[in-house]
Amino acid sequence: MKNFPFINGILHAESVAVTDLMEHYGSPLYIYSRAEIESNWQQYKQAFSEHPHLICYSVKSNSNLAVLNILAKLGSGFDVVSIGELHRVISAGGDPARCVFSGVGKTVSEVQEALGIGIYCFNIESESELDRVISVAESMGVTAPISIRVNPDVDAKTHPYISTGLKENKFGVDIESALDLYSKAEKSSSLKVCGVDYHIGSQITEVSPFMDALDKALDMIRQLASEGIKIEHLDIGGGIGIDYDNTQTIDISSYIKDVINRVDGLEIIVEPGRSIVGSAGIFVTKVEYLKQNSNKSFVIVDGAMNDLLRPSLYNAHHNAIVVHESENGISETWDIVGPVCETGDFLAKDRYMTIAEGDYIALTSVGAYSFSMSSNYNTRPRAAEVMVWENNHTIVRERETIAELYKNEKVLND
Ligand SMILES: *Cc1c(COP(=O)(O)O)cnc(C)c1O
Repeated sequence: MKNFPFINGILHAESVAVTDLMEHYGSPLYIYSRAEIESNWQQYKQAFSEHPHLICYSVKSNSNLAVLNILAKLGSGFDVVSIGELHRVISAGGDPARCVFSGVGKTVSEVQEALGIGIYCFNIESESELDRVISVAESMGVTAPISIRVNPDVDAKTHPYISTGLKENKFGVDIESALDLYSKAEKSSSLKVCGVDYHIGSQITEVSPFMDALDKALDMIRQLASEGIKIEHLDIGGGIGIDYDNTQTIDISSYIKDVINRVDGLEIIVEPGRSIVGSAGIFVTKVEYLKQNSNKSFVIVDGAMNDLLRPSLYNAHHNAIVVHESENGISETWDIVGPVCETGDFLAKDRYMTIAEGDYIALTSVGAYSFSMSSNYNTRPRAAEVMVWENNHTIVRERETIAELYKNEKVLND
């Protein structure tokens, strides 16, 4: 958040006053800082230094073309979970040869397209998927680079919806089955076994589950070596938690250095999403009404759960700050809620703030899993997105119009 300073009592994005951006682009609005995205990515880059590595930014966390383009210019790779995301990367100037393709449900056409385009690696999540990739690659007369996503069965101690490394999750295969899949893969002339992959969850704030997973994967790689199967890279996934509200979390640089110290010369792939873009975005929304019921006070804003789902979906906490405090504000403990017809439509709860109608409120650290999870529920056009760098700003996604929302729908003719 260091690129969102208060200057003369007004919240800024880098050197641009958020009040000016609101006047210029309207409300509600997502605002991103290019410097914040770049410095978060550079933290990984610098930690790896000369060690062979590939940083594959997880596209699903924020898939705006401008974000992808900024990262592509730094030389980033990408982690995609659908063919749509791969097309976004290419449209944004990213290199498909630096893309890994994850996800439990890759369709035949997705595998065909990705093979045709030429990606770095498929992260295989089941035996059926392995069989599918073999048969598609065979029919195309090409060799598919693969790694198998193992489920190291570690408890990442995060929200159950975003924990993926436990036995009961749908992701990956357990280590014993993975060994069988590797020997099957090694025998296929249509596959090239490249790596081992895991991703144990998201918003993980302790390093121990990562180290447990690393140990298990390294054991497995040694076992594979003893069977004559050579692994070239280890993909340690994403999942590093960010500081939403004085959250003690993992120091990226020391974590990566710990990893490097344990893996000899093995190439390391990381798939960070949240830790690259999370702190680089704010969502700004206008106060429409203040409503003080007998035992609850509400700030009703023009942004809602369709714009920012994380509070409703995960009970996630985002700090809420007034962009420019006015003199006639009311000091109170407020729930900040949107106009959507759901009790679950809230952006923040129980926040003591001084607010007046017409003020702007910024929800912070919403660069990840925020716009990318937005919807049109209640026929609400999605907010615009703006990128700021130094004292410059530009729209990177236009605000949707109402007509766009139903242009693909049809009424019956009789
Ligand atoms: C979502 C996801 C990531 C990114 O996780 P973050 O917590 O945002 O770093 C990485 N890899 C895979 C396979 C994912 O599904």
